[in-house]
Amino acid sequence: GGEVRFQDVRFGYDPEREILHGVSFTVPAGRTLAIVGPSGAGKSTIARILFRFYDIQAGRVTIDGQDVASVTQQSLRAAIGIVPQDMVLFNDTIGYNIGYGREGATQAQIEAAARAASIHDFIMTLPQDYDTRVGERGLKLSGGEKQRVAIARTLLKNPPVLILDEATSALDSRTETEIQTVLRDISRRRTTIVVAHRLSTVVDADEIIVLEQGYVVERGRHADLVRAD
Ligand code: ADP
Ligand code: ADP
Repeated sequence: GGEVRFQDVRFGYDPEREILHGVSFTVPAGRTLAIVGPSGAGKSTIARILFRFYDIQAGRVTIDGQDVASVTQQSLRAAIGIVPQDMVLFNDTIGYNIGYGREGATQAQIEAAARAASIHDFIMTLPQDYDTRVGERGLKLSGGEKQRVAIARTLLKNPPVLILDEATSALDSRTETEIQTVLRDISRRRTTIVVAHRLSTVVDADEIIVLEQGYVVERGRHADLVRAD
């Protein structure tokens, strides 16, 4: 499962000032949609609406055909994983950070969950001593390691839908490439919505929509959109 559909969605934080002017797209289960557009276009707003942080003024938002308005907050949180731009680690152990939401998980349980979510190889690239503290008085992790621990936290829940919010933009370019490779591999196996500023970062998406000031101004595959540039 994991089909995500927006049908003619209209929304404004202030109903007097509409931000999304009839946005439609369908992401079939297991496919990747990229939403590209400048700052302020409404990309994060789409993610928040999917989580039902806000109710829309018109249209319909469904996951596997179910209106998100009729789904509990708890099952939405189970269905959607989000990898935000810079995820924060807790001032605690690596195990706590990875297992957040599964508190008290042992290394064996984390590894079993990693296999279930098909991210076992990825988990093995993390520091393996889960009792090690990170943060202020603990181990200093590199930017890439922090990002990987935080990504693992989201992926271990094995959500059918994944939102990647330009997850790698804060990293140096080598680490960025490395993490992009990991995320690309992971996104092949589940429904993914990538939010990005630039077309060049979403070459692999099955469909790209270009959002400007709350309107979908273009849609297609990467090659089509680059040709039209
Ligand atoms: P993007 O993610 O593409 O940068 P956003 O979805 O964050 O765009 O913002 C779209 C528009 O909504 C912008 O005009 C922004 O100022 C406005 N906006 C975003 N969040 C809020 C909010 N919480 N309250 C009111 N307006 C908001
Ligand atoms: P969890 O691991 O429980 O999902 P997070 O700290 O990752 O905890 O996020 C808490 C909740 O906040 C998420 O489940 C999601 O509902 C929401 N959330 C986090 N980041 C964003 C975002 N960038 N846009 C919309 N919702 C978000």
